Amino acid sequence: MPQDTDRNPAAPGLSALVTAASLLSQRSTAALFDCQSCGACCSYSAEWPRFSTEDDAQLDRIPEKYVAANLSGMRCEGVRCSALSGEIGKSTACGIYDVRPDVCRACMPGDDDCLMARRAHGLPTA
Ligand code: SF4
Ligand code: SF4
Repeated sequence: MPQDTDRNPAAPGLSALVTAASLLSQRSTAALFDCQSCGACCSYSAEWPRFSTEDDAQLDRIPEKYVAANLSGMRCEGVRCSALSGEIGKSTACGIYDVRPDVCRACMPGDDDCLMARRAHGLPTA
């Protein structure tokens, strides 16, 4: 078991530095993957915003005008979800954010799907 005299006196300082670096990294990641200035995953594929695990009550809350004719998911214009407004990579918003499908909730900034969509739009991934 280490004795007090074995402890590296610099350790607490290093620990604080590591914590600070980690916080900075999280902040820069959050800035890089800011969904409101991105929207890439909402304009990646017409197959993307599909319905999956929602129950009927959830689906009923999505305005019909945004739902695909075959009821399989969100209505898209090309690869772009009809509920998305704004310009990809600049400023975007989901028109049904509070009731968006589960796949939309599952995509997390910085995850594999996010990076794939951002790459497809030529947006930075690191
Ligand atoms: S691609 Fe990533 S950063 Fe862009 S809106 Fe989707 S989750 Fe957010
Ligand atoms: S429903 Fe909203 S979050 Fe989902 S793809 Fe469409 S615009 Fe994006």
